[in-house]
Amino acid sequence: MIIKTFIEGPISANNYLLIDNDEAVLIDCSSPREEFVNAVKSQGVKLKYIFLTHGHFDHILGCDKFKETFSCEIHMNEKDRMQVQQAPQMLSYYSGAVIESINSITKDVFDGDEFVFGNVKIKAISTPGHTQGGMCYLIDGKLFSGDTLFRESVGRCDLPGGNWKELLSSVRDKLFKLPDETIVYTGHGPSTTIGYEKKYNEILNI
Ligand SMILES: [Zn+2]
Repeated sequence: MIIKTFIEGPISANNYLLIDNDEAVLIDCSSPREEFVNAVKSQGVKLKYIFLTHGHFDHILGCDKFKETFSCEIHMNEKDRMQVQQAPQMLSYYSGAVIESINSITKDVFDGDEFVFGNVKIKAISTPGHTQGGMCYLIDGKLFSGDTLFRESVGRCDLPGGNWKELLSSVRDKLFKLPDETIVYTGHGPSTTIGYEKKYNEILNI
């Protein structure tokens, strides 16, 4: 599996394009920029799915454009529907940019769901806390953690739908149960490993 990272959108979110054989999956879709769309097109593979780690505006702004261009399924935990509805206000509050709505996120994803692209299996893990519908994806032994887990840090819980106790439980009881060597591709900033975070993450001091 090939992993290509695109840093996109108003808060520089990491979007990951995963390619295996002639199929691809995108984890988060933060921008409709032509350069981003063309970079995915130029891989010459079929974009089968977009999986969203959660519904915050800075991770979903490219969804309508990508759906229109690639006709891919876009999956998100339904508990973040409210986040998607609030995305236009959040974007305008944050940057002044105006969009009407985001309408392309039509497929659900539930804890334990499995999908396949190329010869690679995807497992969805529900990790509420940063938002109610937060999801991580375990793909080919690598974890795509969205805003649940960062290098030496975790996602904020003070926005609507955030819950600190749930975030603690998601990280400690689910993510930290994965093998230490699991590489973690985060929603913002550098990647890390589960073993490193079990030693150095700020959550250990709480
Ligand atoms: Zn977020």
